[in-house]
Amino acid sequence: MSQETEKEKGNISINTENIFPIIKKFLYSDHEIFLRELVSNAVDACQKIKRITALGESADPLGELKVSVSVDETAKTITISDNGLGMTAEEIKKYINQIAFSGATEFVEKYKDKGDEKQIIGHFGLGFYSAFMVSDFVEIITKSFQADTKAAKWSCTGNTEFEIVEADKTTRGTDIILHISEDSAEFLNNARVKGVLDKYCKFLPIPIEFEEKILNNPTPLWSKAPADLTKEDYLNFYKELYPYSMDEPLFWIHLNVDFPFNLTGVLYFPKISNKFEQNRNKIQLYSRQVFITDEVKDVVPEFLMLLHGVIDSPDIPLNVSRSYLQADANVKKINSYITKKVSDKLAEIFKDDRPNFEAKWDSIGVFVKYGMITDEKFSERAVNFCLLTNVENKQFTIEEYKNFIETNQKDKSGKSIVLFTNNPETQDTYISSARKRSYDVLKLDGVIDQHFVQVLERKLENTDVKRVDADSIDRLIDKDIKVEISLSEDEQNTLKDAFKRVLGNDKLNVTVEALPTDEMPVVLVMPEFMRRMQEMSEAQGMDMNMFGGAPQFNVIINGNHKLIHKILKTTATAVNDALIHQIYDLALLSQNKLSGANLTAFITRSVLMCEV
Ligand code: ADP
Ligand code: MG
Repeated sequence: MSQETEKEKGNISINTENIFPIIKKFLYSDHEIFLRELVSNAVDACQKIKRITALGESADPLGELKVSVSVDETAKTITISDNGLGMTAEEIKKYINQIAFSGATEFVEKYKDKGDEKQIIGHFGLGFYSAFMVSDFVEIITKSFQADTKAAKWSCTGNTEFEIVEADKTTRGTDIILHISEDSAEFLNNARVKGVLDKYCKFLPIPIEFEEKILNNPTPLWSKAPADLTKEDYLNFYKELYPYSMDEPLFWIHLNVDFPFNLTGVLYFPKISNKFEQNRNKIQLYSRQVFITDEVKDVVPEFLMLLHGVIDSPDIPLNVSRSYLQADANVKKINSYITKKVSDKLAEIFKDDRPNFEAKWDSIGVFVKYGMITDEKFSERAVNFCLLTNVENKQFTIEEYKNFIETNQKDKSGKSIVLFTNNPETQDTYISSARKRSYDVLKLDGVIDQHFVQVLERKLENTDVKRVDADSIDRLIDKDIKVEISLSEDEQNTLKDAFKRVLGNDKLNVTVEALPTDEMPVVLVMPEFMRRMQEMSEAQGMDMNMFGGAPQFNVIINGNHKLIHKILKTTATAVNDALIHQIYDLALLSQNKLSGANLTAFITRSVLMCEV
């Protein structure tokens, strides 16, 4: 290098006295992204030289492209080096000095009061300047691939003055040297830097070296053609994404579209448990293999937030606010594209491999039902493959089920009645009553089934969906077949009064009905409408006292039962009272609702009765 190096000084053209405090202030919350920006610039430089070489426009041999990051704790620097296309002094002036700052004035004007810090980077081409969030002083040492050009060194402290001198770099590429400021000393720690690189650079397309190791996988699965991939590839990539996951995914969807927007990715359907909140935020959003965020809300429909995987799209605006994202036309299109892809895939598996689909329904069902509840478009498609499972674990589509119950489960007005249980254990008595009539009972015992019932009702025309314990079975499906009741009006009133007195509740809703003789002597029910009201208000955190306390069970006395006749014939009140208590408790017990002191009293009474 000659002694009298060409030296040029100049001023960055900007009206604001000092841009850097503003950059620092606005970008404050996300300091670590300087590494993302600088490493992706280095990757861009490598991609560009690759292209230029392929076009035969570079005489320089391409070599092995690589980006290296290193920390020097003593010198307090971080260096990002690449062997990409490099820059001439003229190019530095053009790309680094002017472009960035031309946007900056505008940015200062526009965002002065908004405090929306994430908007800046990329949007205004301030990527490189994020270096100043953590540095007092930044140097660029670079040599262009172009023959007969000199290496150059640019440097700039935290003000608007820059300096360009000739440098003695002999190899193609760029070194960015950050002199880390006092208050960003955390980034002089190797572990901290590695953490940031792992987060943002895991799948960048050019090898990233740190501490003599390559950190990234430059050809992640989603960047390859689906036709070239095997099942193992997908499973291995899942492990790469979620090293701590215990389960294999059920299946996956490879997304690949370039019109009207650009999007690639892989979405995995995980095996899910009922604790599904834990599974959220497992989709990672990338832009040209640069990690952006794992908050994909708005890009991915709400009901698919439980999916895992990767979405990569250069068309998603990345550094803008949430409200902007919601309104963005591309985001809307992407959202409905994903919904369609998912329903197509589900329809395909259902059609081609129904046994497999049925076997996985426990997990798939959660997505499908959630989707049907929240997304009308999806619901229209899903109605063809949404499965219903009955208490015998047989599975039906909605249409199949409608036909299945068509003949047997119509009431007197011609309406079909679907019966379901949300707890086959505690509602077993009611289920067996239904089974005695050869009625079928669906199992809707999942977390979201409470809401799904309403979707089901909408999809099934002229059909009511009722929980099996909502009434006595012959009133649930009222076929208007009158079973004769052998009790007189007086006898019925005597019974009702006796029950109210013994149970100590004047307001108890007691009826006497002609149930079959082999049914329970007393049946407790909660009307479908009442229960839904209660569930709804509970879900909204309302106080049940607003409706005069928690709704109680209605008591149905089986007027045809032997024990009831016995009660009527017996004159000894003490014996009668014990019997009434006993059969009422049995009804509670059949629902697993007897506990505490009431349970103890029941057991004591039972022992006494056995002794007689
Ligand atoms: P953007 O990446 O959005 O263009 P930046 O501020 O990150 O904005 O970078 C500005 C420009 O500086 C780049 O477009 C590129 O021309 C140039 N540049 C930055 N870093 C490098 C590098 N490592 N090698 C070559 N050119 C670079
Ligand atoms: Mg950039």
